[in-house]
Amino acid sequence: MAQKKILLTGGLGYIGSHIIASMEDPSLVVIADNCSNCDIEQIDRLKQLVALERHQVYLVDCTDLNAFEVIFKENEIDTVIHLAGLKAVGESVAKPIEYYTNNLNATLNVLTLCDRYHVNRLIFSSSATVYGPQVSPMNESMTLLKTTNPYAETKAISERMIEDYCVVHPEMAATSLRYFNPVGAHPSGIIGEFPKGIPNNLLPYVQQVASGKRPWLNVFGNDYETSDGTPIRDYIHVLDLASAHLCVLKSPQAGYRIYNVGTGVGTSVLGLVHAFEDANQLTIKTKITDRRSGDVAESTADVSKIKKELGWVSHYTIQDICKDAWNFEQKHSK
Ligand code: UDP
Repeated sequence: MAQKKILLTGGLGYIGSHIIASMEDPSLVVIADNCSNCDIEQIDRLKQLVALERHQVYLVDCTDLNAFEVIFKENEIDTVIHLAGLKAVGESVAKPIEYYTNNLNATLNVLTLCDRYHVNRLIFSSSATVYGPQVSPMNESMTLLKTTNPYAETKAISERMIEDYCVVHPEMAATSLRYFNPVGAHPSGIIGEFPKGIPNNLLPYVQQVASGKRPWLNVFGNDYETSDGTPIRDYIHVLDLASAHLCVLKSPQAGYRIYNVGTGVGTSVLGLVHAFEDANQLTIKTKITDRRSGDVAESTADVSKIKKELGWVSHYTIQDICKDAWNFEQKHSK
């Protein structure tokens, strides 16, 4: 009997790479990636960390059902961790059709192939943005409000598709993980987030200011109703996020489940800047500018459900996050 494999769609990306780097046995992994938001050299970087072979990687687009199906024909897939998708909130507002086409077709194809090949375990990379503008800390039993951008909507619709699939496939163990703000890098500095062009997210931008690539950080508004006037987010180390996936893998339960993945601790924009300065003994120049449209004052997770049901908690601190992010930036900013 062929060995059962875990398929990671988008496995060469930021989160997928850290999941693979955290696995006990990466030889069980099969990766599907179209490299739309990463480069092929990511395979070599991962090989520096784990025993990964080139034949484990399929350069396919999950929206191409026939090409994607080859993976299921050639491997005995037992579990899918579905990470592939476009993920820039601002870009999704400008390119809604691209986001709906790409993200929804990828999820539909994952479900179609799970059905066709009797794959009964699925972990879906969802997002805290599905909650819409609600009061924090947000918990999984909250009714979702209208999302504020197409990216978030693709995550909410994908969750719904998976939930509906589970109704008619009671043998399915499917979990949506609602990520809060994944940041940081592998402590080796070999893998981390490689933003293409100008970073949209706060910490990658701070990293580039630290390395001299950008002159200052624009702080998008300091007139929010928060302690220092800047918005609060729940930043989670990418390795903690990876460990949440491994935790779900270890406890398959039939049915559809949803968990927040965050730390439960909020940090403001200026709080993160100061933590970065303290952790790395440097100064980040900032300028206060107008609010960014669509931003909410606070987004933090209620993490009691994942702790109670799976025993998962985050371990890395904001200081760890800032140190690992800067270590990664120094190794890769040329
Ligand atoms: N932010 C900022 N300057 C930047 C990028 C982000 O002030 O160059 C702020 C942004 O307004 C938000 C916080 O940092 O309040 C986190 O933004 P990010 O894009 O990283 O995550 P998200 O908006 O998804 O929570």
